[in-house]
Amino acid sequence: MSTLNGNAAGEDDDDEAEDAAGGQASSGEDDGENCPLCGYFNSPANGDTCNHHRVWVWDDVVEGSPVYEEFAAAWSDFSDLASSAEDVAEFADNALGLAEALAVPDALVAYSHWENSPLDVFVELAGAAVGEGWTVSGPLGGSGYCVYLESDERANVATDGYRALLAAIDPGR
Ligand SMILES: [Zn+2]
Repeated sequence: MSTLNGNAAGEDDDDEAEDAAGGQASSGEDDGENCPLCGYFNSPANGDTCNHHRVWVWDDVVEGSPVYEEFAAAWSDFSDLASSAEDVAEFADNALGLAEALAVPDALVAYSHWENSPLDVFVELAGAAVGEGWTVSGPLGGSGYCVYLESDERANVATDGYRALLAAIDPGR
């Protein structure tokens, strides 16, 4: 009995030690990920990000920087126009002709028909790097990842291209 009690007491001590360690571990839990471009540890919840950081996705909520938001708005407008066309193939042909005339990338027209999110298209067209993601446990936890850009150039070219196509196709907008 005394041995059992001793073991029980010992286990209790261990549990307390584990709880304490667990508490420390969760308060110091990784709340972020390393930038794929520079390796900096980004923690957007703490406002600590490198200068490649453009988008933070957390539990499917997208929080984008202005370069992403402007792209997403332009893409969504163009995608809406494309999908509302009576003849989608004809719309695409016309849009490709305009893209050539306006010297904007053909890819903008192809990606406008994707059944994907603006973020997926942003990653493709802007050449963005996607982080490996992380999870925070507990009732207030969640999971997410970030998207990074070496340069905004391709994103801005795509945004301007969608706006130019919109203006050419539907000047009344
Ligand atoms: Zn970085």
